[in-house]
Amino acid sequence: MRTNRPDKCLDDYDLVIIGGGCSGLSLATAICELAKTPEHVPQTLIIEPRSYYTDDRSWCFWERKGGIHSKLIEKSWSAWEFSSNTLSHRHRSDKGWKYHYVPSIRFYDHAEKLLTQNPKMTLLVDSCVSDIFPVVSGIEVEIESQVTSTYPRKRKIAAQQIVDTRIPEGVDFSDATLKQVFFGFEVKTNKEHQFDDVALVMKDMRVDDKGFLFDYVLPFGRDSLLIELTRFAADYMPPESLRDGALELVKRVCGNDDFKIIREESGVIPMGMQYSVEPADTRWIHAGIGVGAARPSTGYAFKRIQQWANHCAKGILLKGNVEQFSSNSALLTWMDNIFLRAIRENPSLAPVLFMSLARGVHPDSLLRFLTDIPSKRDLLAIIWSLPKLRLIQCALGEICARIRTGRREQAWFR
Ligand SMILES: Cc1cc2nc3c(=O)[nH]c(=O)nc-3n(C[C@H](O)[C@H](O)[C@H](O)COP(=O)(O)OP(=O)(O)OC[C@H]3O[C@@H](n4cnc5c(N)ncnc54)[C@H](O)[C@@H]3O)c2cc1C
Repeated sequence: MRTNRPDKCLDDYDLVIIGGGCSGLSLATAICELAKTPEHVPQTLIIEPRSYYTDDRSWCFWERKGGIHSKLIEKSWSAWEFSSNTLSHRHRSDKGWKYHYVPSIRFYDHAEKLLTQNPKMTLLVDSCVSDIFPVVSGIEVEIESQVTSTYPRKRKIAAQQIVDTRIPEGVDFSDATLKQVFFGFEVKTNKEHQFDDVALVMKDMRVDDKGFLFDYVLPFGRDSLLIELTRFAADYMPPESLRDGALELVKRVCGNDDFKIIREESGVIPMGMQYSVEPADTRWIHAGIGVGAARPSTGYAFKRIQQWANHCAKGILLKGNVEQFSSNSALLTWMDNIFLRAIRENPSLAPVLFMSLARGVHPDSLLRFLTDIPSKRDLLAIIWSLPKLRLIQCALGEICARIRTGRREQAWFR
């Protein structure tokens, strides 16, 4: 059992956070940063299976200023581009929005440092939660650890409240309307690359026999790039299945032998989960990507997780209560679902839809829409820009689907 606090092994905690990933560490750091004094911090245990953190993902998001994690941003772009066939639309904000990049290792290092500084925060790595038993006085958590020299391999602790960031039992990403599957490489090029200092967020949108795909290219520096191949797939596909295609893409972009791979990253993000997870016990809530952290139409989750973490930390510090992820606005969910349904049913429509938005909507309106804060005018601009007939058909289909699933609404109660 390895912890940042080897001298301390309690049996009782005010708060247990299951999973020291993006949501778990964001919540723990938000509590540390928002607490008036270190004593105000509840006695907290974060349980994480990994032995150590690596630079496993690059988190990007749009924000006007750096936002919650401005000190962790490594690079920001003032322009970003959408392209398909020979057409491209380059966007810039009039209101100071930028596309920011936080390397995950910076985020993890920062979180580990902050948690070590606060005596009430314990990060337990090499360990996972194997069972949970709610009882009247609290919740019992069974922990299994890999390293057994000092402590038993299995032990039970008690928690007053739990924030569980694992994918809840019964939630299956295969059920999402679309799965955003991606595989990419960070590379160093031997020569300076030819790209402008622009984030190519949807480059070369196209369709093949497996559906809609595009490239994602972030020029980090004059000789370093992140290059990813991304698909919006109706059927689940493992990210590894994109490895060869992603490597081909890197060779196409950099020239056959003109690069060195620094690291790789991959994932599957659910777009349009069909079910909600309702906690049966208010002392034990779920958070993260398994309970709708990702915006359905984009898959972006990082900023939404930071917003939830801040909100939840305030709830814990001010009222002593953990706060759930708030659901999306009904209108945005409905629009997202129509969009996803249209792409699922007719992947060749996807480049048309995204390019129509990029061409017809002001960058600031589009950004407000993508970051969950559209005005009514923004929504009208979005609707106006899109091809109507296909979307009206999908809107009707979405209404019928809602009526059908409304009759058998599902929730997982534990
Ligand atoms: C490669 C990649 C790139 C991404 N890029 C972006 C981006 O640019 N912008 C954006 O907005 N979103 C992005 N996302 C989506 C999203 O932001 C991330 O997936 C984010 O990490 C989700 O946070 P989370 O806390 O839900 O999951 P995670 O960060 O995966 O955390 C869950 C944690 O639970 C732990 N765990 C699992 N089982 C147990 C157990 N039994 N006991 C204890 N702990 C357990 C895991 O080890 C993990 O640390 C990306 C995702 C990936 C995979």
